[in-house]
Amino acid sequence: MYAKNAWKKYSGEALQQVMAFNEEYKHFISVGKTERACVNEAVRLAETKGFKNLKEFDTLKTGDKVYVTNKGKNVAVMVIGKNKVEDGLRVLGAHIDSPRIDVKQNPLYESNNFCLMDTHYYGGIKKYQWVTIPLAIYGVVCKKDGSVIDVVIGDDENDPVVGISDLLIHLSGDQMQKTAAKVIEGEALDVTLGSMPLEGEEKNAVKANVLKLLKEKYDFDEEDFLSAELEIVPAGKARDYGLDRSMVAGYGHDDRVCAYTSLMAVLDTPACEYTTCAILVDKEEVGSIGATGAQSKWFENVVAELVNLTDTYSELKVRHALENTKMLSSDVSVGFDPLFPGVTESKNTAYLGNGICFNKYTGSRGKSGCNDAMPEFMAEIRKVMDEENVHFQTAEIGKVDQGGGGTIAYILGNYNMNVIDAGIAVLNMHAPMEIVSKVDVYEAYLGYKAFISKL
Ligand code: MN
Ligand code: MN
Repeated sequence: MYAKNAWKKYSGEALQQVMAFNEEYKHFISVGKTERACVNEAVRLAETKGFKNLKEFDTLKTGDKVYVTNKGKNVAVMVIGKNKVEDGLRVLGAHIDSPRIDVKQNPLYESNNFCLMDTHYYGGIKKYQWVTIPLAIYGVVCKKDGSVIDVVIGDDENDPVVGISDLLIHLSGDQMQKTAAKVIEGEALDVTLGSMPLEGEEKNAVKANVLKLLKEKYDFDEEDFLSAELEIVPAGKARDYGLDRSMVAGYGHDDRVCAYTSLMAVLDTPACEYTTCAILVDKEEVGSIGATGAQSKWFENVVAELVNLTDTYSELKVRHALENTKMLSSDVSVGFDPLFPGVTESKNTAYLGNGICFNKYTGSRGKSGCNDAMPEFMAEIRKVMDEENVHFQTAEIGKVDQGGGGTIAYILGNYNMNVIDAGIAVLNMHAPMEIVSKVDVYEAYLGYKAFISKL
């Protein structure tokens, strides 16, 4: 159903199902604060649903449920379909990296009784939103001996949190005259780690004390920061938002909300005509580049493996498989905000509560950089959404010439496959606390299931 409030579809047990699904989602983003954590949780969920690592298979047949990971930061889950892989897949592709603040390679310094940590932010953020809130530290420290240490500080209720300070209002005369882009500068996003000197230490005693604590708990030294990947993210779990509990407030809905719903759609759907697949990729927020971004050859390699394990291998079959694939680029869209009505055009924006949102194109300033989906493909999707009673809406990212954005759609489109953006409308996108509607989360899950099984 097009552009109608989806809450009206639900009452009684069905409504409870929407709420219960969102409890599982809240758990997913509460433990999935980094791309690595999301991959681990996705694999755990897949294994509980009977999926096995592709490495365990010599051949694949209809109904086999498999997963593949890449460097701990990508995962693909697949159910082998009735048709040949060469006939194409039905793919849901989402990203599991979110805007955040990364720790520099040489981060620690002491200043005026504080130990601080230097950072470089990741993705598009309004820097002023990230100060004076409780922050957590997640990531890995890789040591020369090959060991990889998991660091998790700030989400256990017995843990301390860290944070970034801001100037008191009393002395902000000059600061308040600055533009929002300059109020907090990138180099000022330094995280406070401590203020207690190590006993008996003369120089940099506060920093020495922090290093001692890290050594005791995690067994690494200052130089090991050189091969660490530590991410500063908002501390705390996802919460219900609104007195009616109709929304979820949490960090990283962009794009873990589409990642979770895409993942569950594949995990919960038995073998279909076509092989179904959810891929969760990294680095979307910085251009999808590198080995773990959507531009990597990784997914193409996975398709080659599928051809090889189901058929007599040929490169041409791999190319056919990619070209015959239909895909939803599962990514979030802009939710209409009544406090900022001026940036969107009311007929072509997404509203929280109106279901899964299709963006035929994204881009900015004359659709620049967009994947403009084929109208024939959009027509097929409309038909399936209506037949399966999925609430959907269409949108573009803001008013013409207001700004814009992009997703991974165009990258997979390069294989000549049909791709369209489809996801969930978000308020406060890229802020430490983003908002989604629970009914949109559920409708997206239903929409993704309809796409992979009926299209
Ligand atoms: Mn996104
Ligand atoms: Mn984003």
